[in-house]
Amino acid sequence: MDCVFCGIINGQIPSKTVYEDDLIKAFCDIEPQAPVHIVIVPKIHITSANEIGEKEAVYVAHIFSKAKEIAKSQGIDQSGYRIINNCGKDAGQTVSHLHFHLLGGKDLGAKLV
Ligand code: AMP
Ligand code: ZN
Repeated sequence: MDCVFCGIINGQIPSKTVYEDDLIKAFCDIEPQAPVHIVIVPKIHITSANEIGEKEAVYVAHIFSKAKEIAKSQGIDQSGYRIINNCGKDAGQTVSHLHFHLLGGKDLGAKLV
């Protein structure tokens, strides 16, 4: 399977890891869109939010349970951050491996689009 995030998870593609455990990995986005831009992924290949069932939801819950820790490690837990998931074409999903963007380090504004 040709998946860049699976490649990052198994170490074949280099990344700047900021957090990792048995279920998830978090690394710096290669094209940051904010001073802090982290990508958080489950360590199983889930194509998108459309594919989240009970088994996959365990990984999603774990990502959210660790997000504040990851934000704190980047110094943005108190200033604030945004967590974004893009699902499908209209949302601009470019990597077909479920992931959450954790963005912060500046005032991101109130508008979502
Ligand atoms: P999305 O548009 O929601 O699918 O987000 C995919 C994100 O993955 C984009 O922000 C890319 O910059 C990022 N990305 C793609 N390849 C890599 C990579 N090798 N290392 C880190 N981030 C990447
Ligand atoms: Zn994958």
